[in-house]
Amino acid sequence: MKLYDNLIDGTMEELGKGQSRKISFDEKNAWSCLDNSEFIMQRDAGLELGGAGKPSVNYTCVTTSGKVTEDEILVYGKDINEIKGDTAFARIVILETEDLGEDEDQEKAFQAIRNLEFVRYHVFPKGYMVRVSSQSNQEQVRISNEALRGGISFARVGAAYIKKYKEVSQVKKVRVIFITETDLVDKLRPNADKVDAITRTLTHILDGLPTDCGHCSMKPVCDEVEGMRELHLGKKK
Ligand code: SF4
Repeated sequence: MKLYDNLIDGTMEELGKGQSRKISFDEKNAWSCLDNSEFIMQRDAGLELGGAGKPSVNYTCVTTSGKVTEDEILVYGKDINEIKGDTAFARIVILETEDLGEDEDQEKAFQAIRNLEFVRYHVFPKGYMVRVSSQSNQEQVRISNEALRGGISFARVGAAYIKKYKEVSQVKKVRVIFITETDLVDKLRPNADKVDAITRTLTHILDGLPTDCGHCSMKPVCDEVEGMRELHLGKKK
């Protein structure tokens, strides 16, 4: 899976201009999670990330190119306990996976992509309410006063995400990136639409989209993303 590699490189290049703190994954450190989403009322909220007109973005890329060699959390900007007031917010996940077999077994690859997308929206850290807009790729987070008092941090929330991703058998390594610097969030925002277009096109292809480039609405994606057209037309042969 190399379809997202250019976007991963572009993301890391942009982030290379900022300063990060790296925390290695420690399963014991993972913030506890609930089985379902939790509603935190405004009066119980201690902090809002990515709301109040501040930029926010969320995207997830998959690779098999050895770009992620350890399970890690990277934090750019202030951590949760340092934030006072509204702030920009991004959560970006880069997954190093086994070969998903998209060239051979469509059904298996389709299911794997579905499972990864499922995790993206189904981690519910306690006292950390995530509101996502899949249309605009924004993610806003409301954190309860109780969670703040309990010492919630990006390292601990990131570890909860990594733990959940690693339940998917094809996932080898996970990098979770949290960003609260407005400039960086703004610069990375355009990537989300591109990632989304790749994921949508890929799922359509794996779901059996007819190979008719002349009448295909995915053409702009295939024109831009190396390997996408080969992936689809290769299947026809
Ligand atoms: S290869 Fe052609 S038919 Fe397949 S998704 Fe791309 S543009 Fe559409």
